[in-house]
Amino acid sequence: MTKALTIPEPAPLVRKEPPSVAGGLPAVVSGMKHALGQAGIVRGARLLRTLNQFDGYDCPGCAWPDPDGERSVFEFCENGAKAIAEEGTPLRVAPEFFARHSVAELAAQSDLWLGKQGRLTHPMVLRPGASHYAPLPWDEAFALVADKLRSLKTPDEAVFYTSGRTSNEAAFLYQLFARALGTNNLPDCSNMCHESSGTGLSETIGIGKGTVRLDDFLHARVIVVIGQNPGTNHPRMLTALQQAKRAGAKIVSVNPLREAGLLRFKHPQEVFKGATDLTDLFLQVRINGDVALLQGLGKALFESKAVDESFVRDRTENYLNYSAHIERSDWADIVFSSGIREESIREAAALLASTDRIIFCWAMGLTQHENAVDNVREIVNLLLLRGAFGKPGAGVCPVRGHSNVQGDRTMGIWEKPKPAFLDALDKATGISAPRKHGLDTVEAIHALHDGRAKLFFALGGNFVSATPDTDYTAAALRRAVLTAHVSTKLNRSHLVTGETALILPCLGRTERDGGQLVTTENSMGVVQTSRGRMPPASEHLLSEPAIVARLAEKTLPSSKVRWNWLAEDYDRIRDLIAQVVPGTENYNERARRHGGFYLPNGPREGKFLTPTGKARFTVHDLTRNQLKSGQFLMMTVRSHDQYNTTLYGLDDRYRGLKGDRRVVLLNAEDVDALGLREDQRVDLVSHFRGETRTAQNFRIVAYDIPRGCACTYFPEANALVPARHVARGSNTPASKSVVITVEQRA
Ligand code: SF4
Repeated sequence: MTKALTIPEPAPLVRKEPPSVAGGLPAVVSGMKHALGQAGIVRGARLLRTLNQFDGYDCPGCAWPDPDGERSVFEFCENGAKAIAEEGTPLRVAPEFFARHSVAELAAQSDLWLGKQGRLTHPMVLRPGASHYAPLPWDEAFALVADKLRSLKTPDEAVFYTSGRTSNEAAFLYQLFARALGTNNLPDCSNMCHESSGTGLSETIGIGKGTVRLDDFLHARVIVVIGQNPGTNHPRMLTALQQAKRAGAKIVSVNPLREAGLLRFKHPQEVFKGATDLTDLFLQVRINGDVALLQGLGKALFESKAVDESFVRDRTENYLNYSAHIERSDWADIVFSSGIREESIREAAALLASTDRIIFCWAMGLTQHENAVDNVREIVNLLLLRGAFGKPGAGVCPVRGHSNVQGDRTMGIWEKPKPAFLDALDKATGISAPRKHGLDTVEAIHALHDGRAKLFFALGGNFVSATPDTDYTAAALRRAVLTAHVSTKLNRSHLVTGETALILPCLGRTERDGGQLVTTENSMGVVQTSRGRMPPASEHLLSEPAIVARLAEKTLPSSKVRWNWLAEDYDRIRDLIAQVVPGTENYNERARRHGGFYLPNGPREGKFLTPTGKARFTVHDLTRNQLKSGQFLMMTVRSHDQYNTTLYGLDDRYRGLKGDRRVVLLNAEDVDALGLREDQRVDLVSHFRGETRTAQNFRIVAYDIPRGCACTYFPEANALVPARHVARGSNTPASKSVVITVEQRA
């Protein structure tokens, strides 16, 4: 008799003083515990041996680049080791597992439990009215999706979502399939993360990507890390910051939380060397106080006459509007909205005024606000004032959180494709791609919710946990005629299903794919090869390109595109990419070079690719978040034991929190002011345009965070983030500034 699964109790919370040093032996121990503990010593060691090596595979974690030159034998971080351990686990989720556990039973389990059940082995279907998933042959699975697609009134009733783990080859084939079918509904996880960066940078410097290379960190004199927690989300970046410090750079960190990874770093491979102080000046900004701070820096630069006049004159436009706006700005407003003292802002500005070798690095802490695009454009304003573009050690560095999210966009995964890309695609493939823009992630949720979209297909990811407004998004998915997920492991999205649901298990990045190699693009725009070497978790798995090709053959039997022929040899896909994507000429030969190749990057080469060829200053209102009494501005974050929606464990080591994830971090004085106490359980209520949303049963944690600010983990707090609470211009969910109140539980 199968033992019924029990409903998990919330884990107790164990608190320690947050460490002031990141990395070191604890990182090694944690990484090895996962890699060797979870995958097994032999398998774990094999997985680590080729991780991020020239002839190995690209880490499925974040998109921090590998060194162009010599690579360390251990060219990975703690979280990279955890990421491959998840893929290398010997545990399997086979048909018997699904026969034992109904969808309802599984849905009651925690995200951590679901993720730890192991690798999916067979295609599975949940038929209308069924309580359990059942196995089905691949061909039947493709026929089922093809029938559903053909049953739609228009191709625009289908949504093709992509997560950033998808390789360039799979992404190119996927967008080609959706466009051959007749839709641009190609939302991706970038819509929820750096879309604001792409929008802000494209408008001002003419490219939606970072402009620096890894070795620029050695030439930078000042590095500003703002709205980013590299110690957890891009750990090998700490090595670059350490090398920059040793080369004489100054680091300014801007964050509502004093994250360990911003303070000091002990390189795990430097056993006999001590830790390095990273941050020279820490600015503990209020949540969403960034525009105010960045304008304050501009004001201080003007007042200290630290403007590179010739650069501004020759290379930029709209300077007068910007300078007049900054001149009119008021220090009292700047200090109030940023939460930073005027003298500290002037101290930071003095560092910027001392050089033109300045790099700004950022992540979600800047991109998930209503005024997120303004944040990005204000950074560009400062760099233009200092002439910090197109030279070693200078430029912008939006650090991507998913290993190939930038590559997917380059391959055409975008709901707003440029006409030139579609023209080249039509010419190279013989399809006639639709020109009408498609749905981004938030628009897709609304369309599924109100019935304009009826079919949801995801290439990777965990949509219902990654997106905002959890209950609303879940309701939207449940209205679909079909939800289908190409996945490696079990996750919550498999349990929030349409009328019919499919799980299509694919090969992982670490696994052999019939000797084929794929390519990815990192945050610095380097395209490199990745070749898995481990035996597949199951003989029934297919690669992502094979899944897309076989689905396309089934759905579009008379298509001019030879889908299976392309998937038989990925060199053919890359030859097609080279005909369509600028800068990928001779793709196959260049990708196989040692370390791959850099894609073109105008601003890096001193050219602004704007219509006028000049970089553009922009002007933004200073945000004054007028919170009512008892209200807080909440940001959702990852713990150190998490990667996007994947939970590796419950140990947020760098914040001294272990166990319970339903926690809300508040300033101790705010806890007192509310008449509440540490450890008390409360409900959180968000307030948005008269609407309220509740997330129950959170534990109060008094923490070093500015007054009026609150911090929670996602996906637990995503239910509080309204789907219509988005960034202007990029439509990115504003998960980093949600107005909440903290309610006593009855
Ligand atoms: S820094 Fe990012 S890419 Fe590098 S090993 Fe760690 S998780 Fe992987």
